[in-house]
Amino acid sequence: MISDMDRYFAFEGLHRELAAIVCQARAQVPSTANRLNYLNSGFALLAPWDGNRDLASFEIIHQSENYRKGSLRIYLLFSDDAKIGGLAENERFFKRKMKTRGFYSADTHMITIYVDQDQETLRRQAFILLHELGHVPQFMERGIVFTDTILPNQERILMEKEMWTADYQIALAIGGDRYRQLAKANTERLAAGFQRVQPAPLAEGAGVALDHCFGLAVTPEIRKERDWLFDVYCTLHAIDSFSCDQSVLEAKKCEFIARCGMAEKI
Ligand SMILES: [Zn+2]
Repeated sequence: MISDMDRYFAFEGLHRELAAIVCQARAQVPSTANRLNYLNSGFALLAPWDGNRDLASFEIIHQSENYRKGSLRIYLLFSDDAKIGGLAENERFFKRKMKTRGFYSADTHMITIYVDQDQETLRRQAFILLHELGHVPQFMERGIVFTDTILPNQERILMEKEMWTADYQIALAIGGDRYRQLAKANTERLAAGFQRVQPAPLAEGAGVALDHCFGLAVTPEIRKERDWLFDVYCTLHAIDSFSCDQSVLEAKKCEFIARCGMAEKI
């Protein structure tokens, strides 16, 4: 059973790591500073309400000093949350949530980050929180926070294109010289492939480069995920490196994002 204190301290660690990433990335990717500022402008931490059969119920366990009604809500999802209440439907609800590492729900103005220290490093979790924070202004600008508006798929693809483009740039900013060298070599290889038809995916194990950004991958699953992630970053970077019309580049990135399925989960 995860105590409120456990959740609070987990968030404290994540918040500190997030600030460290922003400190490293803000010069190259200024939007990262805005994302941290938005979080710091007021938030509440949530926990699932133990024993409640209403699956959507959460309670506030901590409010920042400047919290006000309508502030962002953050829920750190722990594996143990699936056991809350001992109900099969609760377990299904939380296990469904665990399929993605993080997501933003505009209807409840809530970011969920799946926190599992055995699986991913704190730095990677903070990076995911930074990504989800980036989605918040996208929904706010469209005036659809606290509504159950379902966006057309093309709109979600545009949002993810913007976020994943920033993600690869943030990785370049925080990964140090070694990461930048590895990313450059792989990006160039992909860009050369694009000149012909479709580049082959990067070699298995190439994602080890991301250890320079996120720390050591501790499981084979994480290693595999980093291979995929590195391929995505380098592909987007390779597309951006073409010298052609900006609208062609953007369309090509959208096509790639759609193919990877990022827009299915914001
Ligand atoms: Zn996203």
